[in-house]
Amino acid sequence: MRKAILALILILILVGLGTVLPVGTRTHQGCIDCGLRRKDLTLLGVAMPTETRTPRSDWYDRRIGAPHQHRWTKLSCTRSFNLWGGTTLWACGPWDVYPGDDTALAAILNRLEPLDLDLPFHDELTHADAERRRAASTAARKFDPAWKNPEVWRWWEDGGWPWPRRR
Ligand SMILES: [Zn+2]
Repeated sequence: MRKAILALILILILVGLGTVLPVGTRTHQGCIDCGLRRKDLTLLGVAMPTETRTPRSDWYDRRIGAPHQHRWTKLSCTRSFNLWGGTTLWACGPWDVYPGDDTALAAILNRLEPLDLDLPFHDELTHADAERRRAASTAARKFDPAWKNPEVWRWWEDGGWPWPRRR
């Protein structure tokens, strides 16, 4: 009987600690150059990173293809979670400039390829100078988002633009 009570108390203490203390963390990162995504998951001190390709990784392999040292930058804050998956802490800190939505950028790069403008645009998107990256990514985001220009619609007609048009 006493052993059972001790075991119960021990379980309650562990559950209590598991609720209050973090058991793991996760952060999302992306490679500035090729758009590869990485989820850094650490559970009970064991690192379990996973990598996911994006449409921009496909463009990169096809058009540049050179092996490179990935330039990882944060895409999310670091979340600490408890035994039940609840958040115990968010750690943010400074962010580097990421080129932007990898699916949208891949669509733009693929569309620029026949004009041979994809490589120079990619150079700007991934430039060592963060201000150059910011400028290129702002230009991409501002690409006629309201679809006001019928010439632009037609130009994108075969380009596989990933978002539905609002006409
Ligand atoms: Zn990379």
